[in-house]
Parts: sequence; structure tokens; C-alpha cells
Amino acid sequence: MDFSIREIKGIGLRKEKLFARLGIMTIADLLQYFPREYEDRNHVLPIGQVEIPSDTPVLICGKVGTIQEVRPRRSMTILKVVISDNSGSAELIWFNQPYRKRFFSKGQILSAFGKMEWAYGHRQMNAPEVENGLVQPGGFVPVYGLTEGLYQADVRNAMREALHFAAEHGDVLPDSIPTDEYAQYRYMPNLAAYENMHFPQHMKQQEQARKQLAFAELFDMQLGLLLRRQHARMAAGIKCGPNGSLLRQLVHQLPFTLTKGQIKAFLDIQNDMEGEVPMQRLIQGDVGSGKTVVAAMALAKIVENGYQGALMAPTEILAVQHYEEFCRLFKGCPLRVALLTGRTTGKERAVILQELKEGTVQILIGTHALIQEDVDFFDLGLVVTDEQHRFGVKQRAALQNKGRSPHTLYMTATPIPRTLTLSIYGDLDVSSIHEMPPGRKIVKTYAVGEAMRKRIYRFLEKNMAQGRQCYIVCPLVEESETVDLQAATALYEQLRTTVFSNRSCGLVHGRMSGKDKEAVMEAFQKGDIQLLVATSVIEVGVNVPNAAVILVDGAERFGLAQLHQLRGRVGRSNIQSYCILLSAKGSEETKQRLHWMETIHDGFILAEKDLLLRGSGHLFGYVQHGLPDLKAADIIRDVSILMNARESAAAFLQSPVDEEYVLRILKRRFGRHFDGLLNN
Ligand code: ADP
Ligand code: MG
Repeated sequence: MDFSIREIKGIGLRKEKLFARLGIMTIADLLQYFPREYEDRNHVLPIGQVEIPSDTPVLICGKVGTIQEVRPRRSMTILKVVISDNSGSAELIWFNQPYRKRFFSKGQILSAFGKMEWAYGHRQMNAPEVENGLVQPGGFVPVYGLTEGLYQADVRNAMREALHFAAEHGDVLPDSIPTDEYAQYRYMPNLAAYENMHFPQHMKQQEQARKQLAFAELFDMQLGLLLRRQHARMAAGIKCGPNGSLLRQLVHQLPFTLTKGQIKAFLDIQNDMEGEVPMQRLIQGDVGSGKTVVAAMALAKIVENGYQGALMAPTEILAVQHYEEFCRLFKGCPLRVALLTGRTTGKERAVILQELKEGTVQILIGTHALIQEDVDFFDLGLVVTDEQHRFGVKQRAALQNKGRSPHTLYMTATPIPRTLTLSIYGDLDVSSIHEMPPGRKIVKTYAVGEAMRKRIYRFLEKNMAQGRQCYIVCPLVEESETVDLQAATALYEQLRTTVFSNRSCGLVHGRMSGKDKEAVMEAFQKGDIQLLVATSVIEVGVNVPNAAVILVDGAERFGLAQLHQLRGRVGRSNIQSYCILLSAKGSEETKQRLHWMETIHDGFILAEKDLLLRGSGHLFGYVQHGLPDLKAADIIRDVSILMNARESAAAFLQSPVDEEYVLRILKRRFGRHFDGLLNN
């Protein structure tokens, strides 16, 4: 049963909205919103002995001395509360939270939890968590990811209530099919596992709980993927004949020789398309590895066999880019290619739709416009989805449903280490393109500190003076999109009016409408904008060969995969390109990450390094496959559990299965996130 979080005491309309921003609608969603980390509140430290700066928050306890509110500016208040114990004193400060003042009184015993720093010669904690009185030492306090307006206390309180609710109602939380393998991971009852995830007494119990929930989750996920594969393979595919003249002409007139990886990928495709079951293949290849031409070859093959093909791209610019490239590649070939996007309207659109229905348009390239209801194919035999992670499962399915079990090809620029592909893309066959087309220069990558900013700007200027274009990327951090947007806008305004006032600058960010975004990107692509300031939303796949420098500001805030993707925006021709990673001084891990970026240019190897670094977090590609987020499991740390879960799920499907029952279990766990799992 799905219970709305409104059933929980203390959650009204306002909080419901805040929780919704975190993707939490139901009590089950809430209980599966696991802590990001735990604060160890087993030790109270003497104030004077805290090492500064404290990397992790520390717990202190003392008596309140002065309470002071200052207003350095009209729009700003700073609340300062001094607490002391025998060993020393510290100042606790809050910006713009005047209402907090009520909470404190002189002489009060107060516990505070936060990071301690030096400020003007004394110890200071900025916005610590405070509790009246001595905290009960013992226990670990969960720390959750938040959104603006929602506080740790809100989530913690809601969580306690939700656990009570689940205990009273039963039937709230997902649980797996009780296989023998699950029994091995089942350290405690299901509900107890959730309790131990949120409010563990000891970390050992938390780890057992996590493993138990991870297995259950991964088992269900694999079950879903394997079922999806079984279903896809039940349909009869379009069995293609051997390669013919259109394909030969295409290959013959290519302006370059195919790389080994491209040839291998096409051979895989050819095999699939000449086989008995519909192709379900993913091509993963680093940005710029040349996936488009492979798609063109597959499309040529389906056309030769008397069917139509479709290529769907996530944005207008990409669709147009593909269309133009196809016109070049197929120049002089007996073939009708058409472009259909949101901008194709009126008579033009009517003609294309008519020709599509009659089968005279053989390859249709476009955006989401392809899945509109009135788009009918004569006989659609191959569906290609570019940057597949940008589409929802439903959208991809909608295109597929325009044919009768057409072959399907997905393309992604997100490399994943080989050990994991099978488990993540468990329902697909995968081809990887590892090498880049010859002649590409390595993007020279430099990690630099704030002190270099001015010099870097001069470097950008020098490149622009030579006619090159540049990107500047500002970080976007989920916890406050508004603040980040302000930062990006401020930087843009500053650069536009000072350092780069003689250059044409543009700004693109996530809050812009699709149309505005496309307009800016198009201007950049045309060269009308020389310097593009962007939040991390730069369109994937955009090909601006003249862009030579990308400056990533706040590089410490990006993961390796993301940095590599960003770097892929430059170095798309034989112009020497540069990637500058500007960062505040960071942890050892940050240094390591940036160093790898400087020295490693192969996305697959970087992906493996990423695995080493990140014990947690999402593996890129996972969510992108249209799969729901993993809640308890971490496919990096939990590879062995994952393998067990996969084997176990495969074994389970070997014996006769009550599919309705299985679907109920899956629906229960993944709900709306796994919609369409089996319908495509
Ligand atoms: P991606 O894999 O990122 O989609 P594209 O298909 O857009 O890459 O290819 C990037 C560029 O490389 C295009 O301009 C394309 O024409 C070119 N290209 C593709 N394959 C080769 C090749 N074998 N040799 C040289 N250039 C190639
Ligand atoms: Mg591409």
C-alpha cells in the first residue's frame, strides 16, 4: 500500500512540497531515504582542545555567555552566542536567522555540533546544530541530504514517526521474494533493518542492515532487468539479409576510415540484425568516438531491407546536427532522410508525415517530436536513441511502439567499467568503442588554484583573440540551486562587463526554458557567442569544433565522470584544446581526482578510477538507463552482493515463475520509478 507522507504527524502541505523536491511522496519513499552519513555523538570534546580546522563536525558542550545580535548591513543580521567550558570558549554564529535568538539564554547549558574554525583569533562554529542541555552521549545521528527550507530535524522527526507508522501498519515497506540467497543476508526482520539504517546504536548493525537491504534491492532490480530481457526476446525480430549496396556506398564515400572500435560495433549490430530476435544493443563510446556514423550504417542496413529507421536525439540542436551529418554522409545515395522537430510545422510537417506513412521517407531524424501521436511509420524496423540517458523509459518505449518489435540501438557517451556493464545494462547487449578517431589531440588538462584566476582569464582571452571559443562552467550544487544560479549570473555579469567586455558572452543555465537554452547554444554553435558561461548543464553531445578551452570553476565540486564529460566539449577537431580545472584547495581525494584528470584521457580508465575513489554515490549511467536510484545498495562497494543477486535472480527465473506475483513485488519496490519496465 502507498501511504502519503501527509499521514505522518507534523507533515502538512508545506513540508509535503519540500519532501516532494527530494522525490519523497510516500512513507515508503521516506523510509528509503537513507542518511548520507552519521554523526558520531559518542564523544563530547573539550572546546579548547578541538583541532582546528576540524575536518568533520565535532560535539562540544558548555555554558552560554554573551548573546549578541549585530547588523553589519541593513539586509544582514549575525547572531553570536559564546559558550565556554573549563578548557576554552567558542563563538557560535548564524547569519540571517534572527528568530534563533529566542532559543538562547545566558547561563544555559548547550550542546553544539559543527565544524570549528578560527575566525579573528577565536574559535568559531558557523550554524552548528544545537540542543538544549547535555546531549545524551551514545548513538549515531543520521544526516540527510536536504533541500532549501527543510532542516535535519524535520527529516529526523518525520523518520521517527514513519518508523512508528510502519510498525503499526505493516505492509508499508518493500521486501523481496524469500529465496535461499536472501536468507543468507537476512540478519534481522525487514523493519528492524530500516530502523538500523536511520537510527543505529552501533555501526555494525547499520552495516548488516545495509547489506540486507542492498541484496533485496539488487535482487529485485536484476529480476526486473532479466524479465525485461526475456520479454524483449520473445518477439520475432526482423531478420535482415546480408549487407547490400546502400551500406557499401555509404562506407565507400566516408571521408575517413572507420576505427577498429567502430567496425567491431557495426559487426555486432549486423549480427543482431541478421538474427532471429530483435536487437537490443547499447553502444557506449567516449564523447567524440564517432558513434553517429555507426548509427548511420545500422540505419542504412534497415533501409536496404525495406524498412524505415528513426533516430531520436534529446535536443533540437543535436537533431539538426545529426540531420546535416546524415545529408553529408549519404550524399548521392538513393535515400530520403527527413528531419522532424518541434520547429517543423504546418505544411512541411504534413508532407513529412504523409511521406512517412507511405514509406517514402526512409530515415526520420528528430527530437521528442518523433513520438507524437500522429507520427505514423509505414514500417519502422530500427529505432536509434542517441544520448539514451536523456530520455525516459516511456519515451523510448513510445518510439519503439511505432513499429512491430523493431530493432533497437541505444547510444551513450557514458563509459562504464566492463565489470559492471552486465549488471547495469543487464537487459541489453553492449558494444564499446574505446579508441578515438586518429589525429585527435589530447586535451591538455591543468588543475590550478584560485591564485591563477587572472592568468587563466588572460589565457582565455588569448585564445579568443585567435578566433577560438571558450566555455566557463560554474558548479551547481543541489542543495541550493538558487544560490548557484545567482553565482553563475554574477560571474557572467562580472566577466561580461570587465575582463571580457570586448567579447560576446552568453549565459546558459538549468532554469532557462528549453527554447532559450537552445537559442543560446545555437548562437554559440554559430560562433556568435565567443564565451559561454554555463552551469553544469551544458548540453551533452553538442559539437562545437571551434571551442578550444573549457574552464571549470569550482572543479573540486565535480566528480571524475562529470569532469570528463565536460572536457569532452572541447578537443572535437584537430585544434589543440585545453581544459582548466580551477579549484579551491581541497582534500587529498580532490587532489587525486584532479591529478587523474590531468594525466588520464581515456573515459573507461577514468571510470575505473572513479570506482576506486567513490565508495558511495550513484554510478553514472545507472540512473541514466532509466533505472530507479539505488537506495541502500551501492553498486561500487557492493559488486559482490550484486553478482550474487544477479545469479540468484537468474536462478529464480529458471524455475516456473508466477509472473503476477513477481510484478507485484517489483511494483511494490520501484513503484512509479520502474513504470514501463516490462512494457517495452
Ligand atoms: P560521438 O561518439 O560523440 O557521438 P560523433 O559521432 O559526433 O561522436 O563524431 C565526432 C566527430 O568525429 C564527427 O565530426 C565525425 O564526423 C568524426 N568521425 C567519426 N568517425 C571518424 C573516424 N573514423 N575518423 C575520423 N573522424 C571521425
Ligand atoms: Mg553523439
